Amino acid sequence: MRMVRFGKTGLMVSEVAFGGIPIMRRSKEDAVKVIRGAIDLGVNFIDTAHGYADSEEKIGAAIQGYPREKLVIASKSPASDKKGFLEQLETTLKRLGTDYVDIYQHHGVSTKEKRDAIFGPDGAHEGMKEGVADGRIRHPAFSSHNIPIAMEIMETGYFEAVQIPFNFVDDTAAEEIIPLAKKLDMGFISMKPMGGGLLDNAETSFRYLMQFDSIVPDPGIEKLEEIEQIVRLYENRRALTDDDRAAIQRLKDELGTSWCHRCDYCQPCPQGIRISTILVAKGSVKRMTKERAMAMLGPAIEKSKDCAECRDCVSRCPYNLDIPELLKVHQQKYEGFVSTGVWA
Ligand code: SF4
Ligand code: SF4
Repeated sequence: MRMVRFGKTGLMVSEVAFGGIPIMRRSKEDAVKVIRGAIDLGVNFIDTAHGYADSEEKIGAAIQGYPREKLVIASKSPASDKKGFLEQLETTLKRLGTDYVDIYQHHGVSTKEKRDAIFGPDGAHEGMKEGVADGRIRHPAFSSHNIPIAMEIMETGYFEAVQIPFNFVDDTAAEEIIPLAKKLDMGFISMKPMGGGLLDNAETSFRYLMQFDSIVPDPGIEKLEEIEQIVRLYENRRALTDDDRAAIQRLKDELGTSWCHRCDYCQPCPQGIRISTILVAKGSVKRMTKERAMAMLGPAIEKSKDCAECRDCVSRCPYNLDIPELLKVHQQKYEGFVSTGVWA
Protein backbone atom coordinates (compact mmCIF):
# COMPACT_ATOMS: atom_id res chain seq x y z
CA MET A 1 0.00 0.00 0.00
CA ARG A 2 1.07 3.54 -0.68
CA MET A 3 2.08 5.40 2.49
CA VAL A 4 0.96 8.99 2.96
CA ARG A 5 1.96 11.72 5.37
CA PHE A 6 -0.76 12.13 7.99
CA GLY A 7 -0.78 15.88 8.44
CA LYS A 8 1.33 17.51 11.10
CA THR A 9 1.49 14.28 13.10
CA GLY A 10 4.32 13.55 10.68
CA LEU A 11 3.26 9.89 10.77
CA MET A 12 3.40 7.89 7.55
CA VAL A 13 0.20 5.86 7.30
CA SER A 14 -1.24 3.49 4.73
CA GLU A 15 -3.67 5.35 2.48
CA VAL A 16 -6.47 3.20 3.90
CA ALA A 17 -6.95 2.44 7.59
CA PHE A 18 -8.46 -0.62 9.28
CA GLY A 19 -11.68 0.27 11.12
CA GLY A 20 -12.08 -1.85 14.24
CA ILE A 21 -15.85 -1.99 14.81
CA PRO A 22 -16.92 -5.12 12.86
CA ILE A 23 -14.25 -7.39 14.38
CA MET A 24 -16.53 -7.34 17.44
CA ARG A 25 -18.55 -9.92 15.48
CA ARG A 26 -15.63 -12.32 15.05
CA SER A 27 -14.07 -14.72 17.52
CA LYS A 28 -10.75 -13.56 18.93
CA GLU A 29 -8.86 -16.09 16.84
CA ASP A 30 -10.59 -15.05 13.61
CA ALA A 31 -10.27 -11.34 14.37
CA VAL A 32 -6.53 -11.73 14.95
CA LYS A 33 -6.20 -13.46 11.55
CA VAL A 34 -8.09 -10.65 9.81
CA ILE A 35 -6.04 -7.89 11.47
CA ARG A 36 -2.75 -9.65 10.75
CA GLY A 37 -3.84 -10.27 7.18
CA ALA A 38 -4.50 -6.56 6.76
CA ILE A 39 -1.11 -5.64 8.25
CA ASP A 40 0.57 -8.11 5.91
CA LEU A 41 -1.18 -6.38 2.99
CA GLY A 42 0.52 -3.14 4.05
CA VAL A 43 -2.20 -1.55 6.18
CA ASN A 44 -0.35 -0.03 9.15
CA PHE A 45 -3.09 2.28 10.45
CA ILE A 46 -5.64 0.67 12.80
CA ASP A 47 -8.48 2.61 14.38
CA THR A 48 -10.61 1.44 17.28
CA ALA A 49 -12.35 2.88 20.36
CA HIS A 50 -12.79 2.22 24.04
CA GLY A 51 -16.49 1.64 23.36
CA TYR A 52 -16.15 -1.01 20.63
CA ALA A 53 -16.61 -3.98 23.00
CA ASP A 54 -13.52 -6.25 22.76
CA SER A 55 -12.08 -4.61 19.62
CA GLU A 56 -9.09 -3.08 21.46
CA GLU A 57 -8.22 -6.44 23.05
CA LYS A 58 -8.36 -8.25 19.71
CA ILE A 59 -6.16 -5.60 18.11
CA GLY A 60 -3.80 -5.83 21.09
CA ALA A 61 -3.50 -9.58 20.56
CA ALA A 62 -2.99 -9.20 16.80
CA ILE A 63 -0.20 -6.62 16.93
CA GLN A 64 2.04 -8.56 19.28
CA GLY A 65 5.14 -9.57 17.36
CA TYR A 66 5.01 -6.66 14.91
CA PRO A 67 7.47 -3.79 15.46
CA ARG A 68 5.35 -1.29 17.40
CA GLU A 69 6.93 1.72 15.66
CA LYS A 70 5.76 0.44 12.26
CA LEU A 71 2.12 0.56 13.33
CA VAL A 72 -0.10 3.57 13.88
CA ILE A 73 -2.78 2.75 16.44
CA ALA A 74 -5.68 5.11 16.98
CA SER A 75 -8.34 4.81 19.65
CA LYS A 76 -10.98 6.99 21.28
CA SER A 77 -12.51 7.85 24.62
CA PRO A 78 -16.15 8.92 24.84
CA ALA A 79 -15.62 10.36 28.35
CA SER A 80 -16.63 13.95 29.00
CA ASP A 81 -14.80 14.25 32.33
CA LYS A 82 -11.09 14.12 33.13
CA LYS A 83 -11.26 11.17 35.53
CA GLY A 84 -13.27 9.02 33.11
CA PHE A 85 -10.98 9.95 30.23
CA LEU A 86 -7.80 8.99 32.10
CA GLU A 87 -9.33 5.71 33.28
CA GLN A 88 -10.36 4.88 29.73
CA LEU A 89 -6.93 5.80 28.38
CA GLU A 90 -5.33 3.38 30.86
CA THR A 91 -7.80 0.64 29.89
CA THR A 92 -7.10 1.28 26.21
CA LEU A 93 -3.34 0.92 26.72
CA LYS A 94 -3.76 -2.25 28.77
CA ARG A 95 -6.08 -3.83 26.21
CA LEU A 96 -3.81 -2.89 23.33
CA GLY A 97 -0.75 -4.14 25.23
CA THR A 98 1.19 -0.98 24.52
CA ASP A 99 2.46 1.94 26.58
CA TYR A 100 1.40 4.64 24.12
CA VAL A 101 -1.33 5.22 21.60
CA ASP A 102 -0.35 7.08 18.42
CA ILE A 103 -3.63 8.93 18.00
CA TYR A 104 -6.20 9.32 20.77
CA GLN A 105 -9.51 10.95 20.03
CA HIS A 106 -12.28 12.58 22.01
CA HIS A 107 -14.99 10.29 20.66
CA GLY A 108 -18.08 11.78 19.07
CA VAL A 109 -17.95 15.48 19.99
CA SER A 110 -21.18 16.15 18.14
CA THR A 111 -23.29 18.25 20.52
CA LYS A 112 -22.70 21.56 22.23
CA GLU A 113 -23.39 19.93 25.60
CA LYS A 114 -20.68 17.32 25.07
CA ARG A 115 -18.23 19.89 23.69
CA ASP A 116 -18.80 22.17 26.71
CA ALA A 117 -18.34 19.31 29.17
CA ILE A 118 -15.14 18.08 27.50
CA PHE A 119 -13.56 21.52 27.37
CA GLY A 120 -15.00 22.75 30.68
CA PRO A 121 -13.48 22.54 34.20
CA ASP A 122 -12.36 18.99 35.04
CA GLY A 123 -13.37 18.03 31.52
CA ALA A 124 -11.91 15.22 29.42
CA HIS A 125 -9.67 17.66 27.59
CA GLU A 126 -7.61 18.13 30.75
CA GLY A 127 -7.05 14.38 30.66
CA MET A 128 -6.06 14.61 26.98
CA LYS A 129 -3.43 17.24 27.80
CA GLU A 130 -2.10 15.13 30.67
CA GLY A 131 -1.83 12.07 28.43
CA VAL A 132 0.00 14.10 25.76
CA ALA A 133 2.36 15.64 28.35
CA ASP A 134 3.42 12.26 29.77
CA GLY A 135 3.72 10.60 26.35
CA ARG A 136 0.90 8.08 26.61
CA ILE A 137 -0.81 9.95 23.78
CA ARG A 138 1.42 10.86 20.85
CA HIS A 139 -1.08 12.91 18.82
CA PRO A 140 -4.36 14.40 20.10
CA ALA A 141 -7.42 14.17 17.87
CA PHE A 142 -11.19 14.05 17.97
CA SER A 143 -14.14 12.66 16.05
CA SER A 144 -17.49 14.32 15.39
CA HIS A 145 -20.64 14.04 13.30
CA ASN A 146 -21.34 17.75 13.48
CA ILE A 147 -19.56 19.93 10.94
CA PRO A 148 -19.88 23.37 12.63
CA ILE A 149 -18.77 21.98 16.01
CA ALA A 150 -15.90 20.10 14.39
CA MET A 151 -14.70 23.22 12.57
CA GLU A 152 -14.78 25.25 15.76
CA ILE A 153 -12.66 22.65 17.57
CA MET A 154 -10.25 22.34 14.63
CA GLU A 155 -9.70 26.09 14.70
CA THR A 156 -8.40 25.94 18.28
CA GLY A 157 -5.21 24.66 16.62
CA TYR A 158 -4.65 22.06 19.38
CA PHE A 159 -5.57 18.90 17.51
CA GLU A 160 -3.44 17.09 14.96
CA ALA A 161 -6.16 14.97 13.38
CA VAL A 162 -9.91 14.85 12.96
CA GLN A 163 -12.35 12.10 12.05
CA ILE A 164 -15.63 12.98 10.32
CA PRO A 165 -18.13 10.90 8.30
CA PHE A 166 -17.28 11.27 4.64
CA ASN A 167 -18.55 9.25 1.71
CA PHE A 168 -20.27 10.05 -1.56
CA VAL A 169 -23.63 10.53 0.15
CA ASP A 170 -22.35 12.23 3.32
CA ASP A 171 -20.19 14.57 1.28
CA THR A 172 -20.54 17.93 3.10
CA ALA A 173 -17.01 17.60 4.52
CA ALA A 174 -15.64 18.12 1.01
CA GLU A 175 -16.70 21.76 0.99
CA GLU A 176 -15.16 23.13 4.18
CA ILE A 177 -13.71 20.57 6.57
CA ILE A 178 -11.29 18.86 4.21
CA PRO A 179 -9.90 22.21 2.94
CA LEU A 180 -9.67 23.43 6.56
CA ALA A 181 -7.83 20.27 7.62
CA LYS A 182 -5.42 20.82 4.75
CA LYS A 183 -4.90 24.45 5.71
CA LEU A 184 -4.24 23.50 9.35
CA ASP A 185 -2.11 20.55 8.23
CA MET A 186 -4.28 18.11 10.21
CA GLY A 187 -4.69 14.45 9.38
CA PHE A 188 -8.21 13.70 8.10
CA ILE A 189 -9.79 10.31 8.75
CA SER A 190 -12.84 9.63 6.63
CA MET A 191 -15.28 7.90 8.98
CA LYS A 192 -17.89 5.61 7.41
CA PRO A 193 -16.43 5.55 3.89
CA MET A 194 -19.16 3.02 3.06
CA GLY A 195 -21.84 4.80 5.05
CA GLY A 196 -21.23 2.74 8.18
CA GLY A 197 -22.54 -0.40 6.45
CA LEU A 198 -25.30 1.36 4.49
CA LEU A 199 -23.47 1.45 1.13
CA ASP A 200 -22.87 -1.90 -0.53
CA ASN A 201 -20.64 -0.97 -3.43
CA ALA A 202 -16.98 -0.78 -2.34
CA GLU A 203 -15.74 0.10 -5.81
CA THR A 204 -17.99 3.16 -6.18
CA SER A 205 -17.39 4.24 -2.58
CA PHE A 206 -13.60 4.11 -2.74
CA ARG A 207 -13.26 5.42 -6.31
CA TYR A 208 -15.11 8.50 -5.05
CA LEU A 209 -12.81 8.91 -2.04
CA MET A 210 -9.64 8.44 -4.12
CA GLN A 211 -10.25 11.85 -5.65
CA PHE A 212 -9.23 13.43 -2.34
CA ASP A 213 -5.52 13.03 -1.88
CA SER A 214 -5.30 14.26 1.72
CA ILE A 215 -7.75 11.89 3.42
CA VAL A 216 -7.45 8.41 4.90
CA PRO A 217 -10.64 6.32 4.73
CA ASP A 218 -11.33 4.13 7.73
CA PRO A 219 -13.57 1.29 6.56
CA GLY A 220 -14.88 -1.11 9.19
CA ILE A 221 -13.48 -4.54 8.35
CA GLU A 222 -14.99 -7.87 9.35
CA LYS A 223 -13.44 -10.22 6.77
CA LEU A 224 -10.04 -10.39 5.15
CA GLU A 225 -11.55 -10.38 1.65
CA GLU A 226 -13.08 -6.95 2.36
CA ILE A 227 -9.74 -5.28 2.99
CA GLU A 228 -8.16 -7.28 0.15
CA GLN A 229 -10.72 -5.83 -2.25
CA ILE A 230 -10.13 -2.28 -1.01
CA VAL A 231 -6.34 -2.64 -1.23
CA ARG A 232 -6.73 -3.93 -4.81
CA LEU A 233 -8.82 -0.89 -5.69
CA TYR A 234 -6.13 1.42 -4.34
CA GLU A 235 -3.40 -0.48 -6.12
CA ASN A 236 -5.33 -0.04 -9.36
CA ARG A 237 -6.44 3.50 -8.74
CA ARG A 238 -7.97 5.45 -11.58
CA ALA A 239 -9.98 8.63 -11.96
CA LEU A 240 -13.78 8.57 -11.77
CA THR A 241 -15.39 7.82 -15.13
CA ASP A 242 -18.70 9.24 -16.37
CA ASP A 243 -20.25 5.85 -15.56
CA ASP A 244 -18.96 6.08 -11.96
CA ARG A 245 -20.40 9.57 -11.63
CA ALA A 246 -23.76 8.41 -13.01
CA ALA A 247 -23.80 5.46 -10.57
CA ILE A 248 -23.02 7.79 -7.67
CA GLN A 249 -25.78 10.19 -8.66
CA ARG A 250 -28.27 7.35 -9.06
CA LEU A 251 -27.47 5.99 -5.59
CA LYS A 252 -27.62 9.45 -4.04
CA ASP A 253 -31.05 10.04 -5.59
CA GLU A 254 -32.30 6.66 -4.37
CA LEU A 255 -31.02 7.16 -0.84
CA GLY A 256 -31.71 10.87 -0.53
CA THR A 257 -35.18 10.57 1.00
CA SER A 258 -34.13 8.14 3.72
CA TRP A 259 -30.41 8.71 4.36
CA CYS A 260 -29.73 10.02 7.85
CA HIS A 261 -26.49 11.99 8.09
CA ARG A 262 -26.39 11.69 11.90
CA CYS A 263 -26.00 15.43 12.24
CA ASP A 264 -28.66 15.57 15.01
CA TYR A 265 -29.93 18.95 13.82
CA CYS A 266 -33.41 17.41 14.34
CA GLN A 267 -32.86 17.34 18.13
CA PRO A 268 -34.15 17.95 20.71
CA CYS A 269 -37.17 15.72 20.31
CA PRO A 270 -39.71 16.57 23.06
CA GLN A 271 -40.34 12.83 23.49
CA GLY A 272 -36.64 12.08 23.96
CA ILE A 273 -36.46 9.90 20.84
CA ARG A 274 -32.94 9.12 19.61
CA ILE A 275 -33.80 9.70 15.98
CA SER A 276 -30.42 9.24 14.31
CA THR A 277 -29.64 6.08 16.31
CA ILE A 278 -32.79 4.53 14.85
CA LEU A 279 -32.41 5.80 11.30
CA VAL A 280 -28.91 4.32 10.92
CA ALA A 281 -29.90 1.02 12.54
CA LYS A 282 -29.31 -1.00 9.36
CA GLY A 283 -25.62 -0.09 9.45
CA SER A 284 -25.36 -0.78 13.19
CA VAL A 285 -26.79 -4.29 12.92
CA LYS A 286 -24.33 -5.08 10.13
CA ARG A 287 -21.36 -4.12 12.27
CA MET A 288 -22.37 -5.50 15.66
CA THR A 289 -23.33 -8.81 17.16
CA LYS A 290 -27.10 -9.36 17.34
CA GLU A 291 -27.05 -9.13 21.14
CA ARG A 292 -25.15 -5.86 21.16
CA ALA A 293 -27.31 -4.36 18.40
CA MET A 294 -30.45 -5.31 20.33
CA ALA A 295 -29.08 -3.88 23.57
CA MET A 296 -28.37 -0.60 21.79
CA LEU A 297 -31.42 -0.37 19.54
CA GLY A 298 -34.14 -2.09 21.57
CA PRO A 299 -34.73 0.73 24.11
CA ALA A 300 -34.42 3.40 21.38
CA ILE A 301 -36.98 1.63 19.18
CA GLU A 302 -39.36 1.18 22.11
CA LYS A 303 -39.07 4.88 22.94
CA SER A 304 -39.71 5.83 19.31
CA LYS A 305 -43.23 4.43 19.66
CA ASP A 306 -43.96 7.54 21.78
CA CYS A 307 -43.58 9.75 18.71
CA ALA A 308 -46.38 12.33 18.86
CA GLU A 309 -45.91 13.25 15.18
CA CYS A 310 -45.42 16.91 16.10
CA ARG A 311 -42.95 17.14 13.17
CA ASP A 312 -40.67 19.61 15.01
CA CYS A 313 -37.79 17.37 13.98
CA VAL A 314 -38.81 17.44 10.32
CA SER A 315 -38.72 21.21 10.25
CA ARG A 316 -35.13 21.11 11.56
CA CYS A 317 -33.81 18.30 9.34
CA PRO A 318 -31.76 19.89 6.52
CA TYR A 319 -32.43 16.82 4.37
CA ASN A 320 -36.24 17.00 4.73
CA LEU A 321 -36.49 13.42 5.94
CA ASP A 322 -39.99 12.33 6.89
CA ILE A 323 -38.82 11.27 10.33
CA PRO A 324 -42.13 10.07 11.88
CA GLU A 325 -42.70 7.80 8.85
CA LEU A 326 -39.13 6.55 8.88
CA LEU A 327 -39.45 5.73 12.58
CA LYS A 328 -42.44 3.51 11.81
CA VAL A 329 -40.57 1.77 9.00
CA HIS A 330 -37.64 1.15 11.32
CA GLN A 331 -39.88 -0.20 14.08
CA GLN A 332 -41.15 -2.84 11.64
CA LYS A 333 -37.71 -3.67 10.33
CA TYR A 334 -36.43 -4.01 13.86
CA GLU A 335 -39.15 -6.54 14.67
CA GLY A 336 -38.08 -8.56 11.63
CA PHE A 337 -34.46 -8.34 12.74
CA VAL A 338 -35.28 -9.59 16.25
CA SER A 339 -37.13 -12.63 14.92
CA THR A 340 -34.87 -13.51 11.97
CA GLY A 341 -31.49 -11.90 12.77
CA VAL A 342 -31.62 -10.16 9.36
CA TRP A 343 -32.35 -6.49 8.65
CA ALA A 344 -34.42 -6.79 5.48
S1 SF4 B 1 -42.28 14.07 15.25
FE1 SF4 B 1 -41.85 12.47 16.75
S2 SF4 B 1 -39.66 12.21 16.61
FE2 SF4 B 1 -40.10 14.17 15.68
S3 SF4 B 1 -39.85 15.69 17.32
FE3 SF4 B 1 -42.01 15.11 17.24
S4 SF4 B 1 -42.19 13.45 18.74
FE4 SF4 B 1 -40.00 13.67 18.26
S1 SF4 C 1 -32.91 12.93 10.77
FE1 SF4 C 1 -32.09 14.65 9.60
S2 SF4 C 1 -31.45 16.15 11.11
FE2 SF4 C 1 -31.76 14.22 12.20
S3 SF4 C 1 -29.74 13.31 12.27
FE3 SF4 C 1 -30.74 12.48 10.47
S4 SF4 C 1 -30.17 13.83 8.79
FE4 SF4 C 1 -29.66 14.90 10.68
